[in-house]
Formats: sequence, structure tokens, C-alpha cells
Amino acid sequence: AAPALDVAGLCVDVDTPAGRIRLLDDVSLTVRPGERLAVVGESGSGKSVMARSILRLGDTYRTTGSIKVAGTEVTRLSERQMSRLRGSTVAMVFQDPLGALNPLQTIGEQVAEPLRVRGTGRQEAERAAAAILEELGVARAAERMKAYPHEFSGGMRQRVVLAMALIAEPQLLIADEPTTALDVRVQEQVIDLLHEVSTERNLAVILITHDLGIVAGFADRVAVMYAGRKIQDDDAGRLFREPAHPYARGLIEAVPRIDHRIEHLVGIPGVPPHPGARPSGCAYHPRCPFRMDICEVEVPAERPLPSGGTVACHLFALEGNAS
Ligand code: SF4
Ligand code: MG
Repeated sequence: AAPALDVAGLCVDVDTPAGRIRLLDDVSLTVRPGERLAVVGESGSGKSVMARSILRLGDTYRTTGSIKVAGTEVTRLSERQMSRLRGSTVAMVFQDPLGALNPLQTIGEQVAEPLRVRGTGRQEAERAAAAILEELGVARAAERMKAYPHEFSGGMRQRVVLAMALIAEPQLLIADEPTTALDVRVQEQVIDLLHEVSTERNLAVILITHDLGIVAGFADRVAVMYAGRKIQDDDAGRLFREPAHPYARGLIEAVPRIDHRIEHLVGIPGVPPHPGARPSGCAYHPRCPFRMDICEVEVPAERPLPSGGTVACHLFALEGNAS
């Protein structure tokens, strides 16, 4: 089968009054069917930009490179073809479930909607809506479908949003900080549910997060983003045990065990650059304890690691230093 996602050489620019700014720089990424990939990085690292450009949701983005979703090159689709693909082949859930729901429409109508717009009859769509809600842990779904969003708790609303995303059976789900607005216990439930659904449906999931604490139990693989580039891409277990890139190392060593949120990170001095003021060469060089002369002038290419995975750091280009 084709990869669920195959991104090659993706660059995203936006035009601002101050000139053109590069938000995403030469990112390549493959996600296999059923694979769970976490994309982590500080805010401004480009992780949401990547998600939005895969679904072609950023109307101000100037995109170059290739984005294939389940074998289809989405950069060449018409707007109409793209909106058909969204929700059927690829779906997305966002941070704020309330913002994604219509307060004036019942839960049932909204969950059934993606099938209704594809021509499924009302009764059949409602049956499917009840079934997916039950699968996602909404008890007595047929009855509770008559309720409105404000009658549901935050965690329940996120299940509803997930049901809307999954009802047309996509092959790829992109979840951008889906649990940030929820309390810790509910966060865990939603992440567990996402893991379960992914396994049962062979659904590829891209989880975008700044919370390393939820990544470890969820992801097969992790892509680490910094300043618009992917700086390491590796098996999740290996990345946590032996992060190769100095930034990935810093992230994993510095994040306090009790709160894995990257925004509370204390061990890496300095702050990530603004996209309009990215440092030359390796964008991490002003913060990197290992920087060399070459780091200030040359952007490190992405190279395969001997253990599998890839890293973009000049340390790994040196002869005899491939660990
Ligand atoms: Fe540090 Fe240089 Fe590697 Fe960048 S390329 S992470 S500055 S050693
Ligand atoms: Mg974001």
C-alpha cells in the first residue's frame, strides 16, 4: 500500500509587510499505514504549519514540494477535489473541540454530517454516527446524539470531534495539540483512545504536540522540529533512550519528569528564533553547546543514523563520529 503520507522537500513561505518569511524549510516525511508519528517542537517550530499545509488549510501559504496523502498528490488537486479528500482520506482534529462544533446543531447531526455531504441517507448516517460514538466511549449514544455541544464535558466534546473526523474512515488523522485544553486525566483518556482507534482501524495518526509526556506511550516514531526544519526523525523508544541531535538531547534531558511540557523547559538556554530571523547555518547554533565553525555557515543536511532514523547535525558528518 502507498504510505499514508509522503512529504518531500516541502517548503512553506508567507508574504508579510516585512517581506517573505520561510515557515517550513525542506521537510521530508513518510508515515506508513497505521503508523503513529508524534511531531514535537517548541511553538513556532513549524509543526502546525506542516499539518495545515498537508490539508491545504493555509490560504496565505506559498507551498513548494510534494505532499502525497495515500498516494494522491494533494498540491495538484482542485479546491473541490481537496475538500472531498479532507474528511474522507485525511481528517484533522484541533486543540479546541468547542470551536470545531456548531452550538446550534445536535451532536448527532454534526457527527453524521461528513456522511450526509457524501450522499448517505439520514437514517444510515445516524446509525453510523451512533456506532462511532459508542466505539469512542460515549455510552447511550443513540439517545445522547440529541444533545447539544454545551451539554457535553470537554473530554466528551473531544470524543465527538474525533467521531466526526473518523466517521468517513480516513487513512490518516492529524491531531494538532488535541488535549491541550483538557485536564490531565482526560488528556490521558483521549490519547489512549486515539491509540486504540489507530490500532483497531490501521489508522495512521500524526500527533502534533509540545508535551513529551504524552508522546512516549503513544507514538511509534517521533519527528523533532526546530525553526521550520525537521532535525531528527527516529523510533520513539530510541529517541527517548539515545537522542542524537543536541536539541533533541536537550529536550529529553531537560524536561522535568513531573511536567514534560516543552514550554516549561529549563535546561536549554536561549529561546527559539522567530521565523523571520532564523540564524544562518544550523538555526540551533546560538544555543548549541557543541557548535563548530561550520555550524554558523552551512545548513546541516538530513543524514541517516546507523541505528535507523535521520538527523540533521554536522556532528554526524564527521568521520568516525557516527554515534
Ligand atoms: Fe549544534 Fe552544529 Fe549540530 Fe547545529 S549542526 S546542532 S550547531 S553541532
Ligand atoms: Mg501550534
